[in-house]
Amino acid sequence: MSETPKDLNSSTRAAELLHHRGRALSKGEPIALPITTSSMFHLPGDPAETPGYGRVDNPTWEALEDALAILEDAPCVALPSGMAAISAALFACLGVGKRLLVPSDGYYVTRVLSSEFLAAFGVDVSERPTAAFAEGGFDGFDVVFIETPSNPGLDLCDLKTICADVRAAGGISIVDNTTLTPIGQRPLDLGADVVVASDTKAPGGHSDLLMGHVATRAPALFARVKEWRKMSGCIPSPHAAWALYRGLETLELRFTRMCDSADAIAPVLAAHPAVLSTRFPGLPTDPSHNLAATQMERFGFLIGLDLGSEERAERFISSSRYLRPATSFGGVHSSAERRARWGDDVPAGYVRLSVGCEPTEALLKDLTDSLDGVIA
Ligand SMILES: *Cc1c(COP(=O)(O)O)cnc(C)c1O
Repeated sequence: MSETPKDLNSSTRAAELLHHRGRALSKGEPIALPITTSSMFHLPGDPAETPGYGRVDNPTWEALEDALAILEDAPCVALPSGMAAISAALFACLGVGKRLLVPSDGYYVTRVLSSEFLAAFGVDVSERPTAAFAEGGFDGFDVVFIETPSNPGLDLCDLKTICADVRAAGGISIVDNTTLTPIGQRPLDLGADVVVASDTKAPGGHSDLLMGHVATRAPALFARVKEWRKMSGCIPSPHAAWALYRGLETLELRFTRMCDSADAIAPVLAAHPAVLSTRFPGLPTDPSHNLAATQMERFGFLIGLDLGSEERAERFISSSRYLRPATSFGGVHSSAERRARWGDDVPAGYVRLSVGCEPTEALLKDLTDSLDGVIA
């Protein structure tokens, strides 16, 4: 990894990301990041310290990892999806006889990976709800996997306290920071050992790629995750790495718009007669608001709405002009879905709304018009 400046704040991190690569260019080199697709590299003689083979080295990944490292303030390993990043972190830290704690209400694939695959390799897997994650303490757990806000329920848990307790108990904390990105929440600064994230969401931002990354300041864990990528062959495509790099260049701009819009939209939706209840950490009435205000840089762009029934929720989503009915979130296009359709433990009328980059006023008018239609 090339040298990154220390002590950046969130605004200098975003500026640095845009110029880091350019400052190191020689005369005549392209400003925009080139894609290197080669599996072979010119390698006569001693191969040490030279890119040798495409499963191990790729200059496009490296440029991406430098950009991610500026955002995370930590060395990063790029992986081909969020689940690939989660798998890499878990397989790097676990083995037969080890104990893993995962959230019972977090991203369901992490839970299934743990209970169906890691358990078959002799890992002892326990689950707890995010809102009561610290209850029972962390003694005896080798790895504690945390997701806050949890997806899809948007419950929070206290990162600083939990990461300190996990460390005191001799375990490793891994935080899935997908919903907030390193701009919205800084788990490593709050004491986490490892951050994992799906860059398929806001970092890519245009719903046209799948990627993920692992970030850690612990050199041994970093080396082990990198070794996992090399040995498992679970590597990103250079094209996806390139597209994510381009996404990162506008992440701060898009994320700011999305969070600003969510801040403006959530209270209006919460007060609408068609809405039974709302989850958004930025609402003073949200059960997680006080914790959110202390540990999050932004309240995020996801809003949970309970419209009371499947039929009302579907009507709200399908009558909107500016909501794409789709799973996943974090894209420039606002999107929404009823999470109960996947079997998530949420009410049938619960809609997870991902606020996109549309101008706030147009989006807000569209959403309130659609809600008006639900109870008309
Ligand atoms: C989407 C998501 C993942 C998985 O990411 P992929 O890129 O789809 O593999 C993991 N965790 C959370 C919280 C997610 O939202």
